[in-house]
Amino acid sequence: MAEKNKIWLSSPHMGGAEEKYVKEAFDTNWVAPLGPNVNQFELAITESLSLDKIYHTAALTSGTAALHLAVRMLNVEAEDTVMVQSFTFCGSTNSVSYEGAEIVFIDSESDTWNMCPEALAKAMADYQGKNVKAIMPVHLYGMPAKMDQIQAIADQYQVPVIEDAAEALGSTFNGQACGTFGLMSALSFNGNKIITTSGGGALVSKHKDYIDRARFLATQARDEAPHYQHSQIGYNYRMSNIVAGIGRGQMEVLPERVKQRRANNHRYREFFKDFAGITFQTEPNANYYSTYWLTAILIDPRLTGGISREDVRLALEAENIESRPLWKPMHLQPVYEGAKFYGSGVCEKLFEQGLCLPSGSNLTQEEFDRIFKALSRIFN
Ligand SMILES: *Cc1c(COP(=O)(O)O)cnc(C)c1O
Repeated sequence: MAEKNKIWLSSPHMGGAEEKYVKEAFDTNWVAPLGPNVNQFELAITESLSLDKIYHTAALTSGTAALHLAVRMLNVEAEDTVMVQSFTFCGSTNSVSYEGAEIVFIDSESDTWNMCPEALAKAMADYQGKNVKAIMPVHLYGMPAKMDQIQAIADQYQVPVIEDAAEALGSTFNGQACGTFGLMSALSFNGNKIITTSGGGALVSKHKDYIDRARFLATQARDEAPHYQHSQIGYNYRMSNIVAGIGRGQMEVLPERVKQRRANNHRYREFFKDFAGITFQTEPNANYYSTYWLTAILIDPRLTGGISREDVRLALEAENIESRPLWKPMHLQPVYEGAKFYGSGVCEKLFEQGLCLPSGSNLTQEEFDRIFKALSRIFN
C-alpha cells in the first residue's frame, strides 16, 4: 500500500552532514548544553544573515524561548503593552503573555498577509503614553512583512521592533535578510521549519550586549562566582551540543532548501493557473523574496462552484495527504477573548479561505502526482 503513505505538510529533510557533527559530539563526549557544535552553528547562522557578519546569534531551545528573552530584555511587564500581528502562531504571543503584558492585536494587509502598517499606525496613535514596549511583526510562510513601513512607525514612536522571523530564514526584503530587521529577531528550527534541529531556535541582534545578556539569562542567570550565585531569575534555554550538530549540517543545505521550496511553489502555481477562485500568497514586487516555506492558497467558494477550503482539506486528508488551514488569528482565540484588535477583517478572511499545501523540500515526483491527482478530482 505504498500509494497510501502519508504525505506531510512539511517534514524534516536531512542534508547528510548532520550525523557526522552529532557523532563528533559523541566521540568527544561533548553531550552537554553548549560546546563546539553550538558555536559553529551560531557562526553559520550569523554568516548566512550577512556576509560582513555584523549580527550576533545565540542558539536556544526554541523560537518561543528566543522571543521570550527578547520580551524580557525589553523589560516588558504586566502594565505594559505589545503590538503583535494577530495572524500568527501562538509562539509569538506566548512570549508576551509569559510576562503578563497586554497584547494589542494588529490585522494583516492583503499584499503580504502580514502586519498592516495602517492598522499599526492607528493603534500606536491611540496608545500614545500607554507603555507600548514593543511591536512584533511576523513573516508568515516565508513572506517578508512590510518592514520599511513598520519600522518607520516604530521609529516615529521610538518603540523597538521584535521581529518574529521563525518562518522566514532564507527570505529577504530589499536585499536584507529576514531575521535582521528587529532590534532583536527570533528564528526557529522546529521540526517542520525550512531547516530543523528537531527543536530549537535562535535570537539574533546587531547589538552584542543583547546577545550576551540572552546567553546569561538562558543559562539560569548565573553570576560570576565559583559557587552558584543568582541576583536575577533566569531560564534553561540554551541549545544542546547534540542538536546543534544537526543544525550545522542543516545550515550547509539551507540555500538548496530555499530553491526546493520555491520550486514547489512554482509547481502549484502551474497546476492552478487555469482554476477560478484560487489565489496564492505572492511577493508583491521584486523587493520581496520569500522562501515560500509553505505554499499557501486562498480558496474562494463563490468562484470555485462552492468548493471551500475545508472541502479541499478533507478530500486531501481522505487520500492521506496533510494540508492545514492558515493560522487562526490570535484575537479570535478563546485565551485572548476580549483583547483589543485593530483592523478590518483581513486576517479573518485569510483564515476562512486559506490552506497550506504540502511543501516539504523532500517531496518526490510520485507524491506530487498523488497531490495533483487528488486536487484534480476535487475540482473537476
Ligand atoms: C515556529 C514559530 C515560532 C516559534 O517556534 P518554536 O516551535 O518555539 O521554535 C514562533 N512564531 C512563529 C510564527 C512560528 O511559526
